[in-house]
Amino acid sequence: MKTRFLLSLAWLCLCASFVVAQTKTENVILVSLDGARCEEVFGGLDLNVLKSKTRSDRKVEDSALYKQFYAATAEERRMKLMPFFWGTLMKEHGSIAGNRALGSAAMTTNKMWFSYPGYSEILTGQAHDEVIKSNDRIRNQFPSVLEFLKGKLKLNDKQVAGFSSWDVMNWIAESKEGSITLNAGYEPYDLNDPRIKVMNEDMKGAPSPWDSVRHDHYTFEFAMAHLRRYQPRVLFLSLGETDDWAHGGNYEQTLKALQRNDGQFKALWEYLQSTPQYRGKTSIIFTVDHGRGPTPLNWMDHGEKVPEAQYIWMAFVSPDSALRGEWKNAETIYQNQVAATLSKWLKFDYAEQNANAGKPIAQLFGGK
Ligand SMILES: [Zn+2]
Repeated sequence: MKTRFLLSLAWLCLCASFVVAQTKTENVILVSLDGARCEEVFGGLDLNVLKSKTRSDRKVEDSALYKQFYAATAEERRMKLMPFFWGTLMKEHGSIAGNRALGSAAMTTNKMWFSYPGYSEILTGQAHDEVIKSNDRIRNQFPSVLEFLKGKLKLNDKQVAGFSSWDVMNWIAESKEGSITLNAGYEPYDLNDPRIKVMNEDMKGAPSPWDSVRHDHYTFEFAMAHLRRYQPRVLFLSLGETDDWAHGGNYEQTLKALQRNDGQFKALWEYLQSTPQYRGKTSIIFTVDHGRGPTPLNWMDHGEKVPEAQYIWMAFVSPDSALRGEWKNAETIYQNQVAATLSKWLKFDYAEQNANAGKPIAQLFGGK
């Protein structure tokens, strides 16, 4: 009798651990908005920045941006700027860390606070400040989580894909060139699709103001076309306009880029919900490569000399996480945890590739 009891106890434990190990996630998507500040993501229009951009003989209240995006509270302002992200995604499907006013912080562990080190930390799970010191087009010597997942899931090069507005992503996102689908900068997207062929021509004829960054519209539409055609299990969508307009001091276009990105999130989400391979089986992380300065004098800038540019934000939408809304009084999370978190959702231990990588974000898996 006792043996039977022990045996059934053992069986119960086995079942319980089996249940715990199960996740619904079959696909992962990583979305990044280059240098999108916590101030706008959590608070919408920053009145101090707008005031600093307003001519001294004009009233800030008369500006078109004020009329379009201003409201009394941070919650109302961000809803005006990113209505889908806040009104649907974060309310009904996911959660977001990094609002320090609520006691939640997300940070880089790299001390550089610019793009290549940030994306490399996200994708490889570790900061490498001794090696990665610039945004130069140098092949990343550290393998990315995209490459890791391709190997673990035994996928072909179409089923793991990255689309980026910034051309340097071709060097950052894979350590072995050509192992995954990567399309970045002004690179045409080679797909047998009449609309994409027209877009490739338009991209050449209607460039953005920047040599190395195309408009997010192309990046997004190419990624969506790839998603529809190949149904990748792992997708990286890296949008860039939020950073470049800000560097140019153009606050109006910075906000409008973020607003367009919100519309892209809506289109992406609606596609995922309409597709059996993705609906209820897809986990998404939205994040940023670095922060920026918090004041009207330094909101355009980032980098090690800009205070607070290490503060980032991270949002999670997953059938395997019950968290909703903003994180409050939570332990700080780090940029180097993204790779392990994406892996864990797909039931893999990222430490197999990089034992020094940040660990999966405990709060998403029932921890504190
Ligand atoms: Zn950046």
